[in-house]
Amino acid sequence: INHAESLSYREALPVPANPVEVHDLGTEINQLLQSLNEQALRDHQFVSDASHELRTPLTAIRGHISLIKRRGDQHPEIIPKSLKFIDNESERMQKMVESLLRLSRMDHVSIEMNYVDVNQIVQDTIDNYQPNISQPIHADMATKVMMATVNTDSLQQILIALLNNANKYSPADAPITVTTSMVHGAPTIQIADLGAGISDDDKAHIFERFYRVDQARSQKIPGTGLGLAIVERLVHLNQAEISVTDHQPHGTSFNIKLSVNHSEKTSE
Ligand code: ADP
Repeated sequence: INHAESLSYREALPVPANPVEVHDLGTEINQLLQSLNEQALRDHQFVSDASHELRTPLTAIRGHISLIKRRGDQHPEIIPKSLKFIDNESERMQKMVESLLRLSRMDHVSIEMNYVDVNQIVQDTIDNYQPNISQPIHADMATKVMMATVNTDSLQQILIALLNNANKYSPADAPITVTTSMVHGAPTIQIADLGAGISDDDKAHIFERFYRVDQARSQKIPGTGLGLAIVERLVHLNQAEISVTDHQPHGTSFNIKLSVNHSEKTSE
């Protein structure tokens, strides 16, 4: 092709109307691939964490079964202790599997949000929960009606999980305080206990799946390390925010900032 021909040949090529768009598309594809990669990595991590957490109690259960098989006949006194261990650990595994299923289902759900009276939901949840524990729950409710846009069921689940933890991780006679108030214009719920508290290092991790502070593990307080991961997911689905702070003079305080989405008011 001579020079003139080459020029006209080039001119005949479809030139993108806007070259910037092509560049953006490339960036978008890259971002998409990167997020798919990250998702695949997260899935891989999830499966590997879950397998590890389930394998530990399973190995211990199998150890006790083998012990009973080998020595049960000659030493029947070991049987009740081993059976108790198997019972406890299999129950913990069951809870873990149920929590894992809940977590994985939550990846694909959208929830119905309504414009509701938060004080009412909080008070009802406390009234239903209090008979389960001897520890007193003090309710310090905002005097005015406090409306927010939430899914009632999931807000109840969040509150129950946090009350459960406050109960597990603080002394049996130390009250738990639930406060509702408007903070900088946002309806906020605080659940505070007078337990040992959580160090700043641990605070950064407690919402991660399977994370348990050493103290919880060493004192053999039952748990799976999945409760707060579920809470965080539910909070996110409700377009709310959760934070953890120290409760003075000691203890822990979980704060949930709810959203008020006025377009949802129609489903009042
Ligand atoms: P778990 O099943 O272990 O209770 P969670 O996900 O609910 O799992 O909590 C993660 C960890 O955070 C717990 O193991 C515990 O170490 C710590 N934690 C949670 N709530 C409290 C609290 N109110 N006070 C002190 N530590 C807490």
